[in-house]
Amino acid sequence: MKTISISVNLGMDPKQITKEYSNGEVTVVWNASKCKHAGLCVRTNPAVFKPKEKPWIDPTASSTEQIVSAVDQCPSGALTYYKNKE
Ligand code: SF4
Repeated sequence: MKTISISVNLGMDPKQITKEYSNGEVTVVWNASKCKHAGLCVRTNPAVFKPKEKPWIDPTASSTEQIVSAVDQCPSGALTYYKNKE
Protein backbone atom coordinates (compact mmCIF):
# COMPACT_ATOMS: atom_id res chain seq x y z
CA MET A 1 0.00 0.00 0.00
CA LYS A 2 1.31 3.43 -0.91
CA THR A 3 1.56 5.93 1.88
CA ILE A 4 2.24 9.64 1.65
CA SER A 5 3.61 11.40 4.68
CA ILE A 6 3.50 15.16 4.83
CA SER A 7 5.21 17.44 7.30
CA VAL A 8 5.61 21.19 7.67
CA ASN A 9 8.80 22.74 8.99
CA LEU A 10 8.17 26.07 10.65
CA GLY A 11 11.17 28.27 11.30
CA MET A 12 11.53 31.80 12.57
CA ASP A 13 12.00 33.06 9.01
CA PRO A 14 8.79 32.68 6.96
CA LYS A 15 10.91 32.30 3.82
CA GLN A 16 12.27 29.08 5.26
CA ILE A 17 8.90 27.38 5.81
CA THR A 18 8.95 24.13 3.90
CA LYS A 19 6.59 21.24 3.35
CA GLU A 20 7.79 17.70 2.87
CA TYR A 21 6.09 14.93 0.94
CA SER A 22 7.48 11.43 1.29
CA ASN A 23 6.73 8.07 -0.27
CA GLY A 24 9.02 6.33 2.22
CA GLU A 25 11.88 6.16 -0.27
CA VAL A 26 12.36 9.78 -1.24
CA THR A 27 11.13 12.97 0.42
CA VAL A 28 10.33 16.00 -1.73
CA VAL A 29 10.86 19.31 0.05
CA TRP A 30 8.94 22.35 -1.22
CA ASN A 31 9.76 25.91 -0.20
CA ALA A 32 6.65 27.87 -1.22
CA SER A 33 8.36 31.26 -0.96
CA LYS A 34 10.88 30.27 -3.65
CA CYS A 35 8.31 28.82 -6.06
CA LYS A 36 7.86 30.90 -9.21
CA HIS A 37 4.76 28.92 -10.21
CA ALA A 38 6.14 28.43 -13.69
CA GLY A 39 4.83 24.89 -13.66
CA LEU A 40 7.87 23.10 -14.99
CA CYS A 41 7.42 20.38 -12.37
CA VAL A 42 3.79 19.94 -13.45
CA ARG A 43 4.76 19.62 -17.11
CA THR A 44 7.64 17.27 -16.30
CA ASN A 45 5.66 14.95 -14.03
CA PRO A 46 1.92 15.72 -13.95
CA ALA A 47 1.14 12.52 -12.07
CA VAL A 48 3.08 13.73 -9.04
CA PHE A 49 2.76 17.53 -9.20
CA LYS A 50 -0.92 18.48 -9.23
CA PRO A 51 -1.40 22.12 -8.23
CA LYS A 52 -5.19 21.88 -8.12
CA GLU A 53 -5.22 19.08 -5.57
CA LYS A 54 -4.37 18.77 -1.90
CA PRO A 55 -1.78 17.65 -1.20
CA TRP A 56 -0.45 19.06 -4.42
CA ILE A 57 2.54 16.71 -4.47
CA ASP A 58 1.82 12.97 -4.56
CA PRO A 59 5.18 11.18 -4.33
CA THR A 60 3.52 7.79 -4.65
CA ALA A 61 2.35 8.46 -8.21
CA SER A 62 5.59 7.66 -10.03
CA SER A 63 9.00 6.17 -9.49
CA THR A 64 11.60 7.79 -7.28
CA GLU A 65 13.84 8.27 -10.34
CA GLN A 66 11.10 10.17 -12.18
CA ILE A 67 10.42 12.32 -9.11
CA VAL A 68 14.10 13.14 -8.68
CA SER A 69 14.36 14.04 -12.38
CA ALA A 70 11.47 16.50 -12.10
CA VAL A 71 12.79 18.03 -8.87
CA ASP A 72 16.20 18.52 -10.47
CA GLN A 73 14.60 20.64 -13.20
CA CYS A 74 12.93 23.10 -10.82
CA PRO A 75 14.43 26.44 -11.91
CA SER A 76 13.91 28.33 -8.66
CA GLY A 77 15.28 25.89 -6.11
CA ALA A 78 11.83 25.62 -4.53
CA LEU A 79 11.95 21.85 -4.90
CA THR A 80 14.65 19.72 -3.37
CA TYR A 81 14.69 16.15 -2.18
CA TYR A 82 16.50 13.74 0.06
CA LYS A 83 16.58 9.98 0.05
CA ASN A 84 15.10 8.38 3.11
CA LYS A 85 17.21 6.06 5.20
CA GLU A 86 16.70 2.39 4.43
S1 SF4 B 1 9.16 23.81 -11.07
FE1 SF4 B 1 9.71 24.71 -9.09
S2 SF4 B 1 9.33 26.90 -9.35
FE2 SF4 B 1 8.22 25.83 -10.99
S3 SF4 B 1 6.13 25.50 -10.18
FE3 SF4 B 1 7.35 23.65 -9.72
S4 SF4 B 1 8.13 24.05 -7.65
FE4 SF4 B 1 7.47 26.01 -8.44
